[in-house]
Amino acid sequence: MANKKNVVQWGDSAQSDWIDISIPYRNKMVYWPSDPVPRIERIKDRDKGDGVTLTEIQIIDHVGTHVDAPLHFIAGGRTIDKMPLDATIGRARVIEIKDPVSIKMEEVVPHSIRRGERLLFKTRNSERCYKTDAFVPDYVYFSTEVVKYLVERGVRVVGLDYLSIGKYGDDSSIGDTHKLFLENGVYILEGINLAKVKPGRYDLVCLPIFLEKGDAAPARAILKPLK
Ligand SMILES: [Zn+2]
Repeated sequence: MANKKNVVQWGDSAQSDWIDISIPYRNKMVYWPSDPVPRIERIKDRDKGDGVTLTEIQIIDHVGTHVDAPLHFIAGGRTIDKMPLDATIGRARVIEIKDPVSIKMEEVVPHSIRRGERLLFKTRNSERCYKTDAFVPDYVYFSTEVVKYLVERGVRVVGLDYLSIGKYGDDSSIGDTHKLFLENGVYILEGINLAKVKPGRYDLVCLPIFLEKGDAAPARAILKPLK
């Protein structure tokens, strides 16, 4: 019999340098208030005497850790199944933002952002917003000015540690921030948790599920510090 101690459990980040920055999918997990409640239920259970264990998953494609595709805001835009596989795989940088309200130019410009970078923004959202399954409306969001700046710098991917990059309840903020990135080929990784991650340089591995013609897709995202 195998020694249980030697069995590597999937999801046990203590076994490697990889840090899981995804949030777990579970029944009634946090979701955007105007969307349907995420429903994840065992419909058969071996522990309760069924022949197999099966789980039914009913979620919007923007629940939890996910990648937005251009089609989300751009009519006729590219779908998630057409995303280049290396958009979300490769070198990435985690930038910490102290501002408790929004990501502003003062905190972004000093980072000398370069063309093609994958940038993940760590805000107080990571520590604060995932403590509860209730939606937190006053999460830290991107100012439109910063989005324009990042597009000009030619970044490839941006990530934020909550469910949307725009300000909750402000349609022009949500619309402008998403459209500016998505029209310019910048993929958006939302719903990551960077609580365990220090600012710095990493390898990012993240792949949205292969959702045909999807406007977004749930993803597992992990980081490994660069040595
Ligand atoms: Zn989204």
